[in-house]
Amino acid sequence: MSVAGAGSAEDIHGPGSVALPARIRRFREQYRDLRIPDYYSGVFHLGFTSVASVAVVVFSILQLHSVTALEWLTIPATFLYANLAEYLGHRGPMHHPAGFLRLIYERHTLQHHRFFTDEAMQFDSSRDFHAVLFPPVLMVFFITAFALPVWALLVWLFSANVAYLFVATAIGYFLNYELLHFAYHTAPDSWVSRLPGMQVLRQLHTRHHDPALMQRYNFNISYPICDALFGTLYRHNSGGAGASVEDRG
Ligand SMILES: [Zn+2]
Ligand SMILES: [Zn+2]
Repeated sequence: MSVAGAGSAEDIHGPGSVALPARIRRFREQYRDLRIPDYYSGVFHLGFTSVASVAVVVFSILQLHSVTALEWLTIPATFLYANLAEYLGHRGPMHHPAGFLRLIYERHTLQHHRFFTDEAMQFDSSRDFHAVLFPPVLMVFFITAFALPVWALLVWLFSANVAYLFVATAIGYFLNYELLHFAYHTAPDSWVSRLPGMQVLRQLHTRHHDPALMQRYNFNISYPICDALFGTLYRHNSGGAGASVEDRG
């Protein structure tokens, strides 16, 4: 709400030098008060996500023995499957309240999308990592509830190599997703934002954070493969005042 009036300068500026609309600044203050415990450390959260994921990937790779050419195909197949799961999960339960998955909707649409909009994409401090990264408890839950049964099924259906390649690729994909999403919410001039290709991906996610577009476009948070396949890819072309051009795949 950057309406001109008494105190408007204060209204559009949050802590630090970043312009922050007043409604977002208020939501962030509320979120920090209500949801981020005093003991929370964003750096520890990021470290736990990275170390736990890398540990699972390394452990899985160490279990491989004499992988055949056909078994290696598990990697691209899992990658595409993970891209589809990311797309469907985001387009579905993360943006539509549905039964027991309502919690995911609340955390994503009602919290993440109000903490960050296309006008305010970056963290104020490392405590704000809480509003981006997957909670460690959920991470452990998903690995146990989903990765383990699929691992067991793949051992039974195919081979241990296929099962471990699946786990390594799926968890590697998850970590890549978390780190990319994290990068999109860092300062635009940070070194991560300047990595090759990051600007393009960040721009796509920034478009998704526009409240008018979030239910319809750019559901892939990592690589927009399914968005291109299903015609939900939206790119911003800076061709005119506020002009947005739909670029459907
Ligand atoms: Zn985001
Ligand atoms: Zn979203």
